[in-house]
Amino acid sequence: MAGDRAVPSRRAEVKRLGTLLPSIKVPPPGPASRAMAHRLGAVETRNVTFVSEDVPVFWEEARGANVRDPDGNVYLDVSGAFGVAIAGHSHPAVVDRISAQAGELVHGMGDVQPPSVKLELLEALVGLTPWADARATLACTGSEAVEIALKTALLASGRSGIVAFEGGYHGLTVGSLAATSRLHFRAPFSERLYPGVAFAPFPDPRVEGEADRSLEIVGEFLSAGTPTGDAVGCVIVEPIQGRGGVRIPPADFLGRLADLTASCGAILIFDEILTGFGRTGALFALQHEGVLPDLICLGKTMAGGLPLSACVGGRAVMEAWPPSAGEAIHTSTFLGHPLACASALAFMEVLEGEQLVERSASLGETLLLDLRTELEGVPWVAEVRGRGLLLGIELTDPVADGPWREGAATVAVAALREGLIVLPAGELGEVVELAPPAVLTEEQAGWAVKTLARVIREAGPGRRTGS
Ligand code: PMP
Repeated sequence: MAGDRAVPSRRAEVKRLGTLLPSIKVPPPGPASRAMAHRLGAVETRNVTFVSEDVPVFWEEARGANVRDPDGNVYLDVSGAFGVAIAGHSHPAVVDRISAQAGELVHGMGDVQPPSVKLELLEALVGLTPWADARATLACTGSEAVEIALKTALLASGRSGIVAFEGGYHGLTVGSLAATSRLHFRAPFSERLYPGVAFAPFPDPRVEGEADRSLEIVGEFLSAGTPTGDAVGCVIVEPIQGRGGVRIPPADFLGRLADLTASCGAILIFDEILTGFGRTGALFALQHEGVLPDLICLGKTMAGGLPLSACVGGRAVMEAWPPSAGEAIHTSTFLGHPLACASALAFMEVLEGEQLVERSASLGETLLLDLRTELEGVPWVAEVRGRGLLLGIELTDPVADGPWREGAATVAVAALREGLIVLPAGELGEVVELAPPAVLTEEQAGWAVKTLARVIREAGPGRRTGS
């Protein structure tokens, strides 16, 4: 029977997906993706999925470092799908655990009659974090983990003011958006946002004295309050700014920030939603600096692809939350979701068993060196930087003598046509961000470097790439 023959061949193809080099059958977005984008326009609110001649491609299947679209194109994903897929897409151990859990308990009652797997996950999670005696609150999205951290800081300090950083991204819910600096996200909702957030410059190591200047400004806010007169209870910072453009602060900036914050009795929150779980070549980015903040926010990669996040801190700070009198003062319907908790447990085993943190450090170093070599002398490349598997290529406009605005989107579209998925970052869209899976093969890594470098060399401000 024809059907009998078709099944094994499709299985064989599916099996190989993950370690393949791209294969582009029709220029993306192909007719199937275009038709879906058209249908989407009839049902999804505007300003969610951006639809143009160039994007999006829809995803039908993803495994390892590969993604397949409905037109049969296979891509290499070096974006990690927003930095989530450090263990690769659909890791078999993660998928198996999700399936097993789904056979037993799909949904529980998080804070009322908790799924037992929530307990297992919390025990594993606090065991990984840097405190001897930690407490954690689970949530579903990164933004919500930030909300919990900001609530914790208010309870612990009794002061509502917040210091955050220019270029910082902490989410788009109303509470977290107040600490996210980019005007593009803030402006339409400014009247909803808590005004007691003061923004300090995030220092660039290339500019002499920026760390000192930034710390001076933070110190002023800490001692005198925010411009709205709110006493400052916390400082929130990404150890490496991700969406801000893979901005790595000068060495010892975070240590000095921690000392300063502590000396003023404020709470230091590290938003490790992007940098946590091996992304920067350490389990948490705080380890690079030897800094212990009061709270960390985790998310993204934490459950191997399912939505799960957490705010974690030492017991002393977390016990600012009062004992419950029956009704939790912060919870949600899907808190401690069984599938996400089971998936996170499997992911953590994979992270350790496959030594993905070490792999992130070593592969990241190779990618950084190779990209620097390939892009040397390209006039519109200002810098190639990175730590572990979080890398950024900053683009400049040599004629305008400033950032190449939206240059990264131009590069991302050209790369997509070659079968390479990257994302733009940076306040002005001037940074190509890479956050690839640590399971990228040597062959895939080499291909990604060569292809991306060629695409960038062939692009350049003022030129139109491709068709
Ligand atoms: N913080 C950081 C550092 C992030 O990178 C993100 C997501 N890009 C968030 C918070 C918000 O997470 P989510 O989109 O899951 O709400």
